[in-house]
Amino acid sequence: YLAKEGRTGVEVYVADKDRNSPERLSLLGDLRRAIDGSELVLHYQPKIDLAVGEVRGVEALLRWRHPVRGTIHPEEFIPLAEQSYLMRQLTEYVIDAALEQAARWWHSGVHEQISVNVSARDLLDAALPERLEAGLAKYRLPPKAIQLEVTERILMTDQAYTADAVRALTRLGVPLALDDFGTGYSSLVRLQRLPVAEVKIDSSFVRRICDSQDDARIVRSIVDLVRSLGLRSVAEGVESGETAERLAAMGCDLGQGWWFAHPMPAAEATAWLRERRDQGTDQGKPVFPVRG
Ligand code: C2E
Ligand code: MG
Ligand code: MG
Ligand code: MG
Repeated sequence: YLAKEGRTGVEVYVADKDRNSPERLSLLGDLRRAIDGSELVLHYQPKIDLAVGEVRGVEALLRWRHPVRGTIHPEEFIPLAEQSYLMRQLTEYVIDAALEQAARWWHSGVHEQISVNVSARDLLDAALPERLEAGLAKYRLPPKAIQLEVTERILMTDQAYTADAVRALTRLGVPLALDDFGTGYSSLVRLQRLPVAEVKIDSSFVRRICDSQDDARIVRSIVDLVRSLGLRSVAEGVESGETAERLAAMGCDLGQGWWFAHPMPAAEATAWLRERRDQGTDQGKPVFPVRG
């Protein structure tokens, strides 16, 4: 158990505290409207191959453009949605929006896999694989065009291992990524038995590898472990060139973070990806490290 300090300062909605507070209930009501309207948008953040500097997929991150409160980040409303019947609808919305964007990119020559974050319960939802299969068919996309990111808390349980939905996803060929690795209970043996392609090392470890020997050792051992299982390692929260270089030296496969690019709206992400691709092929050399 490698838990570090809490992730963000947002604790208003954590656990059952204030479950029925007026603010919560009003936000929940707003969310219902937001899903139907056009207040929810996906931003996209690229993952970069640390050895060669090329893009290897993007992660879709949800933003809520609230008409009164401005942009609300997922950590403020996902936990709320998770405790209501809205989560399923929210995930449906996110998957469809991601597939639509994937189609726009794939059919215009940008072949980047889009990773979508799903909640624990979504993963066990028996309807999810069918919905994904239908979505992939609708947009004429291969299963590898999308990846599902799930936190280790759910993926490491027996429930996940035996769930029909997880088996169906495996059959479908949609890869899984283990998100926020290092923050929960890890049964590493299970990693091998689950259809996991990618392990994302939590930013709480990555952030301090240049200052803390302990954190550097932890990240290095995760990278080694992930490699020995034949999986891909991704460092989250890469905020400096020095961190990127350290990670590359450790043999970490991919990096994601503000040093390379912030999460961007679709149009901006498209321009960014095109520009990177053109630079990469025209000059025949990787552009690394590059700030976004
Ligand atoms: P995550 O999947 O671990 O995503 C990484 C978070 O780190 C994102 O926060 C991203 O914006 C942020 N980040 C990226 N680069 C850096 C960096 O260099 N430094 C720092 N400090 N942060 C960085 P965000 O977008 O606020 O999302 C927070 C969490 O909300 C995500 O964590 C994910 O668990 C969840 N989430 C986001 N979108 C969705 C969604 O569509 N569905 C579900 N179920 N959950 C989502
Ligand atoms: Mg994620
Ligand atoms: Mg994460
Ligand atoms: Mg997270």
